[in-house]
Amino acid sequence: MEILLEHGPATREEVAEYLQTYKGVKNVPSPNSISALMSKNPQVVIVGKQKVEMTIGINTHHMLFDIDRQVIKDKGDLILTRPISVMTPKERKTATQCPSCGRTRIMPEQSDECLSCIRQ
Ligand SMILES: [Zn+2]
Repeated sequence: MEILLEHGPATREEVAEYLQTYKGVKNVPSPNSISALMSKNPQVVIVGKQKVEMTIGINTHHMLFDIDRQVIKDKGDLILTRPISVMTPKERKTATQCPSCGRTRIMPEQSDECLSCIRQ
């Protein structure tokens, strides 16, 4: 998710390329599993399609993924919007259920509502 935040909208192939150049990423997921991961993650939105020329005359469209910038403004916001399915055990302990939307999130300081509810 940090990749999308830093680079802006990207297709799954571009995300795979970024991951490859990232240090410390040993097993780069395939473009297919990247797009599956991203469409499951509520932090990610589809912002459009990019025309990709495969061979001469044949074009295909790839979905452009981006971080939900209405809600997520900087790196610190990523952890506050993280769904429980990708939280670490430590994060799960501090997460509580948001009274407004019912989702389990880590709450921003001095707030009863989750970040998504505050920003929307
Ligand atoms: Zn909420």
